[in-house]
Amino acid sequence: MTVDSTTILAKAKAYREATAEALSRLIQVPAYSGTEGKRIELLRMLCGEAGFEEVRIDGLGSLLARIGSGKKILAIDAHIDTVEVGDRSQWSADPFSGLIRGGIVYGRGSSDQTGGAASMITAGRILREIGYAGDYTIWFTFTVMEEDCDGLPWKYLIEKEKLVPDFAVSTEPTSLRLYRGHRGRMEIECTFQGVSAHGSAPERGMSAAYKASRAALAVERLNAALAADDDGFLGKGTVIVSKMEAHGPSQCAVPDQAMLYLDRRLTWGETLEMAVEQVRQAIGPDLAEVRVPRYAKPSWKGTVYEQELYFPTWKIQADHQLVRGGVEAHRALFGADPIVDKWTFSTNCVAIAGRHGIPCIGFGPGDESQAHAPNEITRVDDLEKASAFYAALPYALAGVHP
Ligand SMILES: [Zn+2]
Repeated sequence: MTVDSTTILAKAKAYREATAEALSRLIQVPAYSGTEGKRIELLRMLCGEAGFEEVRIDGLGSLLARIGSGKKILAIDAHIDTVEVGDRSQWSADPFSGLIRGGIVYGRGSSDQTGGAASMITAGRILREIGYAGDYTIWFTFTVMEEDCDGLPWKYLIEKEKLVPDFAVSTEPTSLRLYRGHRGRMEIECTFQGVSAHGSAPERGMSAAYKASRAALAVERLNAALAADDDGFLGKGTVIVSKMEAHGPSQCAVPDQAMLYLDRRLTWGETLEMAVEQVRQAIGPDLAEVRVPRYAKPSWKGTVYEQELYFPTWKIQADHQLVRGGVEAHRALFGADPIVDKWTFSTNCVAIAGRHGIPCIGFGPGDESQAHAPNEITRVDDLEKASAFYAALPYALAGVHP
């Protein structure tokens, strides 16, 4: 099966304004993690209008929209929650205006990553209109809670809803480049115990603050000693102390409790067990306890789906069928190879590829640098091209050998 690039490009162009308008409408309905209900309802309406063959909401509250009924499953994902706006005075216009002007859509989430969602709706419309009946069942997933706990909605889809795709695409911003991996991450909490004594006689006590301080410096040394990854694609892992606390019965006493919070970025080959053991070794007997905290906030539907704050590293090889399929779709549409690279930040692929080993690629409108920044924008040109890419991908994939 070949890509009918002429038809797909013509349709993406014809729906260009509609795609931008859909993004604008979505931006006007704020959706922070755990409160996405109203935006999900709007998406359900937009997907209904676009002609998806099946539209449903899963147990967590993500929206799933299907095209095709082939034997293999291709998932195309956008998280539809956003972070908050931060200091409003740094925005030159209302972050929820969804203003469209001069080929730009303005507002919170325009790049990260509601633009991907808008392009996906148009891709579904295009595939429906050209009567896609190929090898793939294509699930367009509009997922919740990613900004709070990346991967959680997809851990839920795979483990609870039993939606196990053969391939997945994340539509997080890549500036229309093709991405094939990113570092993982985890959070680690270390606690320290001392013995309290009157501040006038410290020799009677044992300070938990001093233990935590020695430990913090040990973490700094651990960071410098972390090994690089084998091929240098993802870069070295890192660890930092992100928070430090010490307290005791009063400010005139030797503190008997202390805590260090660590942010650990994981490169290829680094796992949760390995990272925890490194911390144990680095800190030594001063350490009372080390643990990986858990996330347990309810979704907008009230579902609590708990997981530890561990987001595994993932990558796929440059010659993987899915990467070649993405390159082929790009070539057929735009007459050139895409730049193949990786994200700096983390995405839902930590669950799809990192936990479950399902191959992922990334291709999305907008820029990673816009994510979480004031005056966030995306380009209407990107939205149009991304919608064409998602429509072309299932055809291109069928044409490349496994
Ligand atoms: Zn994002």
